Amino acid sequence: MKASSDFPSINAKEADGLKPEGTPYKILIVDDSIFVKKQLSQILQSEQFDIIETAGDGEEAVEKYKEFYPNVDLVTMDITMPKMDGITALEKIMEFDKNAKVIMISALGKQELVKKSLLLGAKNYIVKPLDRKKVLERIVMVLKRT
Ligand SMILES: [Mg+2]
Repeated sequence: MKASSDFPSINAKEADGLKPEGTPYKILIVDDSIFVKKQLSQILQSEQFDIIETAGDGEEAVEKYKEFYPNVDLVTMDITMPKMDGITALEKIMEFDKNAKVIMISALGKQELVKKSLLLGAKNYIVKPLDRKKVLERIVMVLKRT
């Protein structure tokens, strides 16, 4: 009789949130909407990403990035936020760390702002309403493209 270990599992997919060596990617979520923060956290945690912190405006985002640097693998950055918007926060983070990986989270119809943020160094963007598959796809794409 064969043991189950004789059959290589074809379904065992590594969680998206784990690095090849098995430790989780560390994510900073920035959004002024508690709903979006929660949604993103749930999607990412279900794939074993580590949400190191969340921020509700651009100022807080820059502060937290500096506080956790170099232990931040990726930032999800909302565009429209109070105090400091996501584009300005992106600029400040890129000034501080030119290798920062920031993905913009944009509302529909903000193509100009998305384009601007890509020129400023954002690695990709995701349009709201958030689709689980797309969120994971884009984040994984950015993390694996070193
Ligand atoms: Mg917002």
